[in-house]
Amino acid sequence: MTDIFDYDSLLKRAMALKPKEVDSGERFQIPDAEIIIEGKNTILKNFKEFCDRLDRPPEHFSKFLFRELGTAGQLQGERLIFKGKVSSLDIKNRINDYIKTYVLCYECGSPDTILKKEGRVEILVCKACGAIRPVNAKIEIRTPEEKIEENRVYELEIIDINKDGDGIAKKGGYTVYVKNAKKGQKVKVKIEKIKKNIAFGIIVQ
Ligand SMILES: [Zn+2]
Repeated sequence: MTDIFDYDSLLKRAMALKPKEVDSGERFQIPDAEIIIEGKNTILKNFKEFCDRLDRPPEHFSKFLFRELGTAGQLQGERLIFKGKVSSLDIKNRINDYIKTYVLCYECGSPDTILKKEGRVEILVCKACGAIRPVNAKIEIRTPEEKIEENRVYELEIIDINKDGDGIAKKGGYTVYVKNAKKGQKVKVKIEKIKKNIAFGIIVQ
């Protein structure tokens, strides 16, 4: 029990420091996770409080937790129920992963962001600095053949179109925006620019 307590106090201190670091947004404070075991289930009692504080839909957040913890469960009022016994530390770590992935701006670290969907791609829009980034759900390990480079040509499939009319393709952890492409098209794309895991290209014949 003592090491769990230690973790909690560490977390509290880290969280208490965080809002000052990230921005002036005083409203952003991550609640303490209240986790209990009830019969064969593990309950996160104040799940709703997290959703409210982070301004994310309970369905989205819970789906992530179930997937990452490798368990099933359900929403029940304010509470989230996990089937089986799940360690508190695991739950807390996965909550932190969710916040890093789906809440904090990748550019400035502000929690004041909006999660949107463009086709099948989730986008994080920062209200503080204006940065717009596709959600990087997993930092994928790129093998050399998955890595893409500027000025090279790749065969890509356009899986969707964003609201500006650009095609969206995926390759090895990159999201590639392709001008004048149609959904479902398989095209040869020349990469003109890469920024982190986003690339911009044009169709070549
Ligand atoms: Zn930002």
